[in-house]
Amino acid sequence: MARIVMKFGGTSMAGTERIRRVANIVRRQQAAGHEVAVVVSAMAGETDRLVNFCREANPLFDPAEYDVVVASGEQVTSGLLALTLQAMGCKARSWLGWQLPIHTDEAYSKARIEGFDSEALLSSMAAGEIAVIPGFQGLSGENRITTLGRGGSDTSAVAVAAAIHADRCDIYTDVDGVYTTDPRIVAKARKLSHVTYEEMLELASVGSKVLQTRSVSLAMKEKVRVQVLSSFVDDDAPAADTLPGTMIVSDEELAKIQEDLDMERQLITGIAADKNEAKVTLTRIADRPGAVATIFGPLAAANINVDMIIQNIAKDKGETDVTFTVPKADLLRTQALLEEHKDAIGFYRMISDDKIAKISVVGVGMRSHAGVASTMFKALADRGINIQAISTSEIKVSVLIDEDETELAVRVLHTAYEMDATEAA
Ligand code: ADP
Ligand code: ASP
Ligand code: MG
Repeated sequence: MARIVMKFGGTSMAGTERIRRVANIVRRQQAAGHEVAVVVSAMAGETDRLVNFCREANPLFDPAEYDVVVASGEQVTSGLLALTLQAMGCKARSWLGWQLPIHTDEAYSKARIEGFDSEALLSSMAAGEIAVIPGFQGLSGENRITTLGRGGSDTSAVAVAAAIHADRCDIYTDVDGVYTTDPRIVAKARKLSHVTYEEMLELASVGSKVLQTRSVSLAMKEKVRVQVLSSFVDDDAPAADTLPGTMIVSDEELAKIQEDLDMERQLITGIAADKNEAKVTLTRIADRPGAVATIFGPLAAANINVDMIIQNIAKDKGETDVTFTVPKADLLRTQALLEEHKDAIGFYRMISDDKIAKISVVGVGMRSHAGVASTMFKALADRGINIQAISTSEIKVSVLIDEDETELAVRVLHTAYEMDATEAA
């Protein structure tokens, strides 16, 4: 017998027929003798719909009230799954974020899980009840509902798995694993049987939304075994967890697997695109110590994550332009904050562009190989794609380009790094 956390994403929960399929997958795991907790997302499109209501009500919305609205999608699906399981004769009970409770900090709309007491959940599971937990939501120290940032149900699932010491955390989604790039953009993307935590963390953080970034860092820290697999299987298919998905493993495990199979490590593991960032440029800022601190201090205080930053070298006038990216969802608040602090920062103009995309190539093989970035720049240049900004880490190179060129850039790079699947594969 194993203790398993199963997480189902939005497309898997979109409507009563899909929920019935999910219930069937869950029921079969329990029938196989496992203890099961299920974490669910809202129906596909529901969270977007709720976010739009908030924007219409108040473009500069209070994140705490936003959380009250957007957390509701998961309440609906958790109740519906419990009802569907009960209709199949299973014992099932929903556990809302405030009931467990899943404690988080006060960073509304992107709260961090601080932990939860798993005792009640474990005793209900031991009594044969399937626990159904709405993902994405928690409870702050101020006793208010919080949400964990878009895609946060993955993190809820890993947090539950860590707290109840689950043997596995299975993330069921609408693709059957992690691919070399989004299989919806590149038909020739290849499924990866294993990815290391480190690579998955980097891929997720640069836009591979198959797993939320925090879910990967939590899994890495808590040593949770995470597997990505598809919920789109027939009712009579072999148990879904026997189908090969993608296992997230440690570096040592991967090295061992590759040695056993006599496989070489790939230079590049994956390519990701992120259209959720916006670019802001502040012109003619004084080139003096502390100037950038006056820009980024207020943004940090407002919990706005700044990603790429470029500061041009000052020309003779002692002035410089600063360009940076923030999540598109935070652009309005960023503009308002910068305007508010305009005098202290001392910029001349603020120019924003939300029609940009960040394209990244990721792979631990980069550590020992030169030339990864230059292959990227040349492949993009050959197709006339202009690079607006560049950033690198030990195992990643990212570039900022025009949003309209996203799909082309990802395809071109997938081919340039010789990652395309062959017909036979
Ligand atoms: P869920 O609703 O199940 O959480 P998401 O939409 O959040 O699903 O994540 C699954 C989607 O992630 C896939 O449909 C796919 O388009 C996208 N995706 C992006 N990059 C990758 C990748 N490298 N491998 C697999 N899927 C990817
Ligand atoms: N429903 C939330 C979202 O769409 C959380 C999730 O699906 O993981 O972002
Ligand atoms: Mg998701």
